[in-house]
Amino acid sequence: MSKNFIAIKEELDSAGASLIAVSKTKPNEAIMELYQAGQRAFGENRVQELVQKYESLPKDISWHLIGHLQKNKVKYIAGFVDTIQSIDSIELLKIVNKKAQENDRNINVLLQIKIAQEDSKYGFEMAKLVNQLDPKLYKNVKFCGVMGMATFTDDQAQVRSEFERLNKYHSRLKEELFDSYPGFRTISMGMSGDYKIAIEEGSTMVRIGSLLFGTRNNN
Ligand SMILES: *Cc1c(COP(=O)(O)O)cnc(C)c1O
Repeated sequence: MSKNFIAIKEELDSAGASLIAVSKTKPNEAIMELYQAGQRAFGENRVQELVQKYESLPKDISWHLIGHLQKNKVKYIAGFVDTIQSIDSIELLKIVNKKAQENDRNINVLLQIKIAQEDSKYGFEMAKLVNQLDPKLYKNVKFCGVMGMATFTDDQAQVRSEFERLNKYHSRLKEELFDSYPGFRTISMGMSGDYKIAIEEGSTMVRIGSLLFGTRNNN
């Protein structure tokens, strides 16, 4: 496991992309192994599991929520979560902002945008996002960029074109909504199976689980 980690880290470092180690379903011992090797940013997709791991692991870990977040669960993570990568509606954004304010802190957010051809349930439609979002209204969130998932397919050309599209969306949002937000620079794309393509298409942050921790039995 550590051997994989070191090789992947080197590859990402030279590409200028950061690594979120996706530890969902994996035990604390597995997380600690990467922690000892220097990794500090971990991703989880379930609130309850995230809270348990936050409570039992070192406090200098940066926790990223990467899965769909229900509005009534924001309160459980608002006090500690570093980044919510899966902001997929204006309603959710409002609540995250409110709970961050109640906790007297800022929460980093990524806007999850639909790029896959398959009918994925979550994520903004780009056109709607541009029309609906007014960044000024959210004082307690820091807009850090975008997140997306490509279609689950062997067709590399398709995956590549979806990542290329997310990169363009990021540029367009930067121009049209986040011109005065220098922190809006993250393009979170790429998982175990497609991160090399993602990097070639401009990813600045990859979310890798199974390549680091081994395959999961369930999600
Ligand atoms: C599980 C998950 C990952 C990591 O997937 P692997 O294929 O195990 O690398 C990345 N992003 C999201 C949103 C996930 O849910």
